[in-house]
Amino acid sequence: MKIFNSYTNALETFVPRHPGVVSMYVCGPTVYNYIHIGNARPVVIFDTVRRYFTAKGNRVQFVSNFTDVDDKIIAKAKEQGKDEATVSQFYIDAFLHDVEALGSSVDYIQPRVTRYADKIIDYIADLVKTGDAYEIDGDVYFRVSKSADYGRLSNRKLDDLISGARVEVNEKKESPLDFTLWKKTAEGLRWDSPFSVGRPGWHTECVAMIDDIFGEEIDIHGGGMDLMFPHHENEIAQACAHDHHRVARYWMHNGRLDIGGEKMSKSLGNDIKVKDLEGDLRGFRLYLLATHYRAPLSFSLENLESYQKDWSRDEKTVQTLFRTLDRNRTLTVHAVLSDPEIAATLTQFDEAMENDFNTPNALTAFNALLKIINNLLRRPSEPTVMNQALEAARYMLGILGLEPVLKPLDDEDRALFVSWEDARKTKDFAAADRFRAELVRRDLI
Ligand SMILES: [Zn+2]
Repeated sequence: MKIFNSYTNALETFVPRHPGVVSMYVCGPTVYNYIHIGNARPVVIFDTVRRYFTAKGNRVQFVSNFTDVDDKIIAKAKEQGKDEATVSQFYIDAFLHDVEALGSSVDYIQPRVTRYADKIIDYIADLVKTGDAYEIDGDVYFRVSKSADYGRLSNRKLDDLISGARVEVNEKKESPLDFTLWKKTAEGLRWDSPFSVGRPGWHTECVAMIDDIFGEEIDIHGGGMDLMFPHHENEIAQACAHDHHRVARYWMHNGRLDIGGEKMSKSLGNDIKVKDLEGDLRGFRLYLLATHYRAPLSFSLENLESYQKDWSRDEKTVQTLFRTLDRNRTLTVHAVLSDPEIAATLTQFDEAMENDFNTPNALTAFNALLKIINNLLRRPSEPTVMNQALEAARYMLGILGLEPVLKPLDDEDRALFVSWEDARKTKDFAAADRFRAELVRRDLI
């Protein structure tokens, strides 16, 4: 298994720290609004990564946080005349609803800043104790000058960063690059701390949570490319100082999603919310997976529609295969994959996934399998081969998070099929049409 490690800028062989266990952390949303389609990309990508590891027999420990303390949440709460907890809970629920609609699992550890305040405060206090952070007037800053490798992840030079940061002059800070760990405040949710009554800055929560939950360097840290600097750079600086490791052995970053070549932003008025997308969101998932996760993706509604059509057609193909086997009572629970053509598509699929999660190539393998399935459906075929094809399709789609809805026939459905066939045999076309219409209504043919 090869993974492109953003930290070393190289394709590396993936070896989990503990054989058979993969630890993953993905930066989660700040919950002050519904997520837009760009936020959906890491939600789908890292879920697919998790699914692949799981399918290969690993136990995946998956953690992703909720930032439920933030200026934007305070602003939203004021605007709506609600408290911050109500606002964040509303958008946490909305987020998880979107995650499920995107076909991603919501079954993961979801730490929140409000429930981690004590541990974050302790983490910051430790950094102050070692001189890696300093307090001025109740605020705490990280001392970047003590971090030897600062800028390594995002490939930036310290001098360039300093000259670039000059516009933002803060008299209190020792260096313009020093970032806020704790902010003294009289507004919004706040906690008592050895520094002041205030709240943590954004950059400490992830490392404090990782340290608490895993207690060691994890295997994979994921997130969008836009988080690489400063957020992930700052996570590494703190973890190096506090935990003597760089958070994760493999850093994975997904590319940006833009609209027609333009960056999606609220101010440009071109941001599309996931909840506002029409049609089956699994079609959107297919769209996201059709581009390699590291490449930029240019979104358009026309393309979305075409992927939704593709998905609907592909799902129908697998459903027809399932139903044909079910109707003939030849469905088997587990098929031994011995057919060389089908086995070849599986090998191709796995090879693509093993090569830095190349989902576009994995989809090519799936399309080759669909071709085989269509051929099997066109002519009388061996049920053993058909069962193998079904099993291969379920395997691939399970990893891609695109599980087809496969509903076994009930007695009434079966009776309808029999009646339809009988009517056709006796050339009672009116009855045959009636039965056929009912089968269509039940979405069975
Ligand atoms: Zn983070």
